[in-house]
Amino acid sequence: MKNLIDKLHQENFLSAEEFHRLLANRSQEDEEYARNLANQVRQQVHGNKIYVRGLIEFTNYCKNDCFYCGIRRSNREAQRYRLTEEDIMTCCAEGYELGFRTFVLQGGEDPFFTDEKIVHLIQEIKKKYPDCALTLSIGEKSEESYRAFREAGADRYLLRHETADPRHYRRLHPYEMSCEHRKNCLRTLKKLGFQTGAGFMVGSPLQTIDDLVEDFLFLKDLDPEMVGIGPFIPHKDTPFAEERRGGLEDTLFYLALLRLMLPYVLLPATTALGTIHPKGREMGVLSGANVVMPNLSPVSVRKKYMLYDGKICTGDESAQCRSCLSGRMQQIGCEIVTDRGDYKKK
Ligand code: SAH
Repeated sequence: MKNLIDKLHQENFLSAEEFHRLLANRSQEDEEYARNLANQVRQQVHGNKIYVRGLIEFTNYCKNDCFYCGIRRSNREAQRYRLTEEDIMTCCAEGYELGFRTFVLQGGEDPFFTDEKIVHLIQEIKKKYPDCALTLSIGEKSEESYRAFREAGADRYLLRHETADPRHYRRLHPYEMSCEHRKNCLRTLKKLGFQTGAGFMVGSPLQTIDDLVEDFLFLKDLDPEMVGIGPFIPHKDTPFAEERRGGLEDTLFYLALLRLMLPYVLLPATTALGTIHPKGREMGVLSGANVVMPNLSPVSVRKKYMLYDGKICTGDESAQCRSCLSGRMQQIGCEIVTDRGDYKKK
């Protein structure tokens, strides 16, 4: 298997058959080999720099009903909230003080936030913080909406594809949602000039090796600027409450393969990874990740943005999250940097 890992490192590509062979047959030793190699590539390309993005979870209302997600519309137990524009601006101000130069506005697909409201928000943030990058993560919209957001000044957009296999997609989402539509959204975002982030959940129910092969091939083809992956973690008030969570070793191995396949990509060590292991995010960085996304949401709403059970950092102030992560990165020889951290191909 090492020769396949080397090939991915050298050629940044494997065929479907090769990916399948690697995913199906790798040993623990192969995983370690890939992780070390990916860590070297991360260092060669990005040095010791870890980019930081301030995450503002501004609404947990959602019109969608994804089976895995704790803020799905059918979850009557979720306490719903929306931040006001003023709240959001306060989060940005705090974040700016703490050195953040990227803000990520993430939320459920909340019809209350019309395009006009989002455009206004983008304009306000970009006017006040012209030196900051603004990322949106608010789901599937029309091309016109995405264009309006882009013209208002949004720089980046995160929309995980969740799984690239249409049949698997059906098992995770209600009938009105489709894999093809989500992939098309990603292509539209790229076309409009967003730095675009895709990604998938590791170990989501019924995920097969073939599905994962599809994920890698789709990502190679899309060539996104960012890729977010993290373990699936069950939420008690969803249809997947009794399902198993995704694996730590699997997540780290796939992070490593992504770094080898897309050397320049921005790759977060996600909160979900930090949730399944106390050192999950550090291990993620040592497997090739180069981004962390501490939470800037007001503490009063943190516990309400519960996508899955046990989510970490729900009690901490923004400043605590920021300094906790700086400390964690320093301990593994890395340094959090506060520039915008745009995608660059050298
Ligand atoms: N509404 C936005 C943001 C979704 S939340 C959108 O559609 O993009 C961000 C990500 O959290 C999702 O893309 C999904 O990959 C992840 N997520 C949701 N539920 C999860 C769970 N139970 N375990 C792990 N990750 C989950």
